[in-house]
Amino acid sequence: MVKVNDSCIGCATCVHLAPEIFELDSATFKAKVIKQPETDQEKANYQVAKDSCPVGAIED
Ligand code: SF4
Repeated sequence: MVKVNDSCIGCATCVHLAPEIFELDSATFKAKVIKQPETDQEKANYQVAKDSCPVGAIED
């Protein structure tokens, strides 16, 4: 199960790389998961986003 932990700094990198998976929460200014990756494309985008998070806030 993909989730974003509290160390997220809201840089939006994951939102740009995997917009089907992540969204910036307008209340907390942190990323949130809007959909678990299912298709091969979503899984690929998710992996790039996870690897690109500067603070390691994306967990699965
Ligand atoms: S890339 Fe990491 S720090 Fe940036 S918004 Fe996504 S989860 Fe937060």
